[in-house]
Amino acid sequence: MFNNEGEVEMKRVPCSGCSLLCDDIIIRSDGIFIDEVIGACIKGKEHFDQVSAKNRITNPLFKEDNNLKKIDWNQGYNKAIELIKKAKNPLLYGFSTVSCEAQLKAIQLAEKINGHIDSNSSICQGKLIEKSKSVGLTLTTIGEVINKVDLIILWGANAAESIPRLLNKALFSRGKFRMTGREIKTLIIIDPVQTSSFGVMGVRDLSLIIEPNKDIDLIRVLKEECCTANSIPSEGVAGIDGDDLKRLLLHLTGAEYGVIFVGQGLLKPTDDNDTLQEFLELIEMINSRQKKGRISLIMMGGHYNMTGFDHVALANYGQNGSLNFVNNQLEDTKTNTIDKIKNEDFDLSIIVGTDPISHLPANLSSKLMKHPIIVIDNKKSATGDVADLFLPSAITGIECGGLAYRLDHIPIELQKIINSPNNIPSDEEILTELLKRLTDGGS
Ligand code: SF4
Repeated sequence: MFNNEGEVEMKRVPCSGCSLLCDDIIIRSDGIFIDEVIGACIKGKEHFDQVSAKNRITNPLFKEDNNLKKIDWNQGYNKAIELIKKAKNPLLYGFSTVSCEAQLKAIQLAEKINGHIDSNSSICQGKLIEKSKSVGLTLTTIGEVINKVDLIILWGANAAESIPRLLNKALFSRGKFRMTGREIKTLIIIDPVQTSSFGVMGVRDLSLIIEPNKDIDLIRVLKEECCTANSIPSEGVAGIDGDDLKRLLLHLTGAEYGVIFVGQGLLKPTDDNDTLQEFLELIEMINSRQKKGRISLIMMGGHYNMTGFDHVALANYGQNGSLNFVNNQLEDTKTNTIDKIKNEDFDLSIIVGTDPISHLPANLSSKLMKHPIIVIDNKKSATGDVADLFLPSAITGIECGGLAYRLDHIPIELQKIINSPNNIPSDEEILTELLKRLTDGGS
C-alpha cells in the first residue's frame, strides 16, 4: 500500500483482538509487513504481532508414530476427508474467532456430514440468549452507551483485561447527550475478585465484592425489594452489606440510561441453576417499573466473533446454537457440546479457532482426546498438540477479510492487510475446500 509519492500508506482498520472490534486503529503497512500500529491497546498490538509469532504453524501437520509431521495441503485435505468419512457422529466446535462466512461454511459442513455443531457461545453468552427466549432481553449498543449512559455496571466482568478499551469508550468518553462525561457516570462492579477493573473506581462508584457463586442470592433479594419495599435484610446478602444493597437498588431503579456488562462471572459454563433466568427477570422487572429510564445489557463474550455464530446460525437455520444434523436435516435437540463430550457421544471432533483442551475441565479434555481430532487454527495450542491433523489458517482481520459481529451485535467488515505466511488459506477457504471434496467424492 503505497501512496502517489511512493510512501508507505497509513490505513484505518478494525482490530480483531477482542469482541470490541475497535474500528479506529491506524496501521502503516506496505502490504507485506505491518510496520506500525497506532491506537490499539496492548492486547490489540499483541494480536497484530501474531503474524510473526513463534507459535505460528505454516504447514499442515499429520500425526504419525505419535508425532506431528509436516505434509502438503493436498495430503492435508485428503487426510481430513479420510477422517471425516470414517466418522459416524462428528462434533464440530469453536468458530468464535473466524468470520461469519467461515461460520456458515462450517454449519454447511456439519449438515453435509451429519454432525453436531456448536460455538463457544453455547457455554457463554448463548446461555443468556437461550433464556431470553422466554423472558426477553433489553440490549443496547456501544454508540448508545457513549452518548447516553449514566450508570455502568460490570457484573462478573473484568473489562480492563478482557476488553481493554471498553472502559475508555464507555466510562471516560463524552457523548452527544453526556457532555460532562466521567464525572456524572457511576461505575458499579459486582465481582467475587478484586480485579484490575476496580483500579478505575472513583469516590462516587460502588465496589461490591460478592461471595463466590452467590449471585443468585443477590438477584433474588433485589427482585423481592422491587416488589416489597424494605425487604433488604439489614445484615446484607452474599457478603454485601445492607447499605450497599440499598445504594445498588437506588442506582438500578434511578438511572436514566444504565448498562450492565454481563461477564464470565454470570455466564459460567458450570452454572446449572436459574441465575440467568432470574437475572433477566430482574432486569425486566426494573424496566417495567421505571418511569424515565431503563437498564440494558451487553454480553461480554471475549472472542471477536462469538456473537457472529449466533447470528449466522439463527438467520440461516432458525437456531442460535447446538445444531444437530441427522440425514442432512436439522434435528430438534437440547444437547450441547458439553453433554456430547460428557456422554462421549461423538467419534471425531473438528475444532476450529479454539483450544478446548486448555479450557475444559480435565475430565472432559481427556474424553475429547479419546477420539480423532482435526484442528483448524492460526496458532499452536494444547488442542493442536494432541490433534491427529492440524490445518493452519490465516488470521482473519489481518491476513484475510470477512464479516464479524461486535459484542453489541453491530456487524463490522474486517480487512485483509497483508498476505499470510506460505499463503496459508483462510478458515473459510479450508472449510469450502473440505465441502467441495466431500461433494465431488459423492459423500
Ligand atoms: S480493545 Fe480489543 S478490539 Fe480494541 S484494540 Fe484492544 S484488543 Fe483490539
